[in-house]
Order: sequence, then structure tokens, then C-alpha cells
Amino acid sequence: MADKDRRTINEQYAAIGQRLIETEEILEQIRNSQATIVFLSSQHKKIESGKVVHAQCEKIQDKYKWGLPADFTITVFEPNCIGFTQEQLEILIFHELLHVRIDYKDGEEKYSINPHDLEDFRYIIDRFGSHWDEVKDPNEMDFSKMDLESVNTDEQIKQNLDHLNC
Ligand SMILES: [Zn+2]
Repeated sequence: MADKDRRTINEQYAAIGQRLIETEEILEQIRNSQATIVFLSSQHKKIESGKVVHAQCEKIQDKYKWGLPADFTITVFEPNCIGFTQEQLEILIFHELLHVRIDYKDGEEKYSINPHDLEDFRYIIDRFGSHWDEVKDPNEMDFSKMDLESVNTDEQIKQNLDHLNC
């Protein structure tokens, strides 16, 4: 079967995203903005530059807003997230939300996509560890034993951001 990138609205991801926006300090700017984000799922096994893409945050161009009344989409490529725990899925969506950039110019909100070379992404790695996206046997996962407090070196963070493609 053709591996088409057909996307559908996903209420589960929307609920996770909404909760993160409401509760995470670092997402305050989204919370206080007019920006609308649509959460989607796709069965596409997306690969980019030889890397598996777990998820993607995209800005909707003005010319498409007649059909898609949103400012951003966050798409989870589900076949590429098989084995993710609920926690990993939430971290993934958290990561995608950090791509949402809001600037203010002449009193108006300007939207764009944050690149990875940003301090904000360090937050995810500092909080969840640099291997948060590795798939393990869910039965063996024990987040309470994970070393979430360890301080990552800049080199570890750089390596993690280099292998990340989402
Ligand atoms: Zn990313």
C-alpha cells in the first residue's frame, strides 16, 4: 500500500497539547497568544535526510487559511512512534510546541518556527534526559528510576539535537 501522508485531526494529541500549554511555564507565550494549533496524526513513515521523523510542527501560510483555519499544525507520524510510552508521546508533543514561535510587531502577533539551536530545547533535555525518545520495552520503563536530574553537557545536548528530527 502506498505510504501516503494523509493526516487526520487527533483529539488525544490535542488534549495533551492543551494541557501542556495550560500548565507549562515555558509555553506561557502560546497560552497568552491568539495562535491556534491543530493536532494531527499521520500513518506516513516519514523520513527526512535519512532520519526517522517522529513529529513535525509547521506554520500554516496565510494563503491556505481559507481551508485550514489554524496558525500551526503539529503532526505525529504514528508508525515512527511505535513503542513510545504515554510519557514519551507527551514529551514529543512538548518538544513540538517549543517550535511554535510568537513575536510581536506593531501590536500584532507574528508566527514562525523555532529552530533547534535554541536554548528552549535544552529545557526538554535537561528535564527528561538526552535519550527521551529511545524506545524501550514499556514493561521495563520506570520513569521514577530515570536520571532526570542529571546535568547534560553541551556536547551531549548537541548530539541529541543532531540526531533528533522532529
Ligand atoms: Zn524539533
